[in-house]
Amino acid sequence: MAPNKVKCFTWQVARKACLTHEALQKRGSIIASRCLLCKEALETNKHLFMHCKVTTQVWAMFTSIAGINWIMP
Ligand SMILES: [Zn+2]
Repeated sequence: MAPNKVKCFTWQVARKACLTHEALQKRGSIIASRCLLCKEALETNKHLFMHCKVTTQVWAMFTSIAGINWIMP
């Protein structure tokens, strides 16, 4: 069973409720969006948690340790 903070974070990611630059812009904040990890793309929910090259390396490490074969969509 996952800890509550992991469940809550997972729920926020799935619901796109994390305060990414994209979400802040939708709420009216004026931000020059750039991913803080790779500095190569806009900071969107999908980029930050799925497609960022830094995040991809973390997912690869996690799936390798867990012995899971995973191809990123
Ligand atoms: Zn990135």
